[in-house]
Amino acid sequence: MKKFKRCQSCGMPLNKDPKGSGTNTDGSKNNMYCSYCFEKGKFLQPDITLDEMETLVREKMKEMGMPGFMARLLTMGTSKLERWKK
Ligand SMILES: [Zn+2]
Repeated sequence: MKKFKRCQSCGMPLNKDPKGSGTNTDGSKNNMYCSYCFEKGKFLQPDITLDEMETLVREKMKEMGMPGFMARLLTMGTSKLERWKK
């Protein structure tokens, strides 16, 4: 399986994930998504849209003390992640 540096759903660097990554149905590590997006083989927010995800991530980054323009810059790549590729 290809190993990703960033969660392919929200774009968070996987090394910033306290749990390391999301998990598959059998409890093994999933190398594609973070634990905030993906647990036990399922998306935690299966119906979220790309727009909603970008907003969510921006809010989260602001909460963490990141300036607005930085948060915007970092979420610009969200649409290129595997989950959102058309
Ligand atoms: Zn994620």
